[in-house]
Amino acid sequence: MAKLYFKYGAMGSSKTAQALMTRFNYTQKGYNVLLLKSSVDNRFETAFNPQVVSRIGLSADCIKFSSGENLLNLFTKNNYSKKVDVVIVDECQFASKTQVEQLKQISKDIPVLCYGLLTNFKTELFEGSKRLIELADSIDEVKSVCKCGAKATVNARKINGKVTTSGEEILIGAEESYESMCYWCFTKALENSKPKLVDFKAEIKNKHYNYLERE
Ligand SMILES: [Zn+2]
Repeated sequence: MAKLYFKYGAMGSSKTAQALMTRFNYTQKGYNVLLLKSSVDNRFETAFNPQVVSRIGLSADCIKFSSGENLLNLFTKNNYSKKVDVVIVDECQFASKTQVEQLKQISKDIPVLCYGLLTNFKTELFEGSKRLIELADSIDEVKSVCKCGAKATVNARKINGKVTTSGEEILIGAEESYESMCYWCFTKALENSKPKLVDFKAEIKNKHYNYLERE
C-alpha cells in the first residue's frame, strides 16, 4: 500500500527545494514523477511553461491545477499518456478539502508527497493542510529558524514593513511580503506594528504654542 505524505514547514524552510530534490531522485532512478502545483501560486508564472521554483535556484516543469479542478481526472489523464509512478505536490496548502481527498485516493496505488505550509499569516490552518493532517499516513516537519534562534512556525505577513493579521488569506498582486518567525517574535512584531497612542494633551499644547508664536 502506498502512502499519502505531508511535509510541512514555514516559509523559507526549503520545502520546495526538498520537493524538487525528491523529484530528481525518483527521476534518476527511472520513475515517472507527476509534479503538481496550485495555480493560486502565480510566482514564476509564464503562460506556457509553469514551473516549480525554489529560492535556492532549483526548478522543474510542472502541471498546475486550479482550485476547482478534479485531481483524480488530472492524474488519470496523465497516467494514460505515460504511467505515473509518484505524485509530488508543491504549495499543497492551497489544495481544497476535496482535492486532498482526491490525492488520498491516488495514494492507494502510488506514493503522493505533499509539500506546503501548515498555517496562514493569522496562525490558522490552511484548508488543504487541515485535511492533510487528517488524512496523511506520514507527517513530517521541515524545520527552519527564526532570527532569534528558536524554531520558526509562523508565516508573518508584512505590509510596508509592518506585521499584520488582517486581510484575505491569499493576496494576489499585493505589495506584501512574508517572514517566518517563532510565535513570540511574531506577537512582539505585531504589537510593535500597532499605531502608537497619540499624546493628545502634548499635541494640543504644541499647536497652541505654535499658534501663539505665529501671533
Ligand atoms: Zn523568534
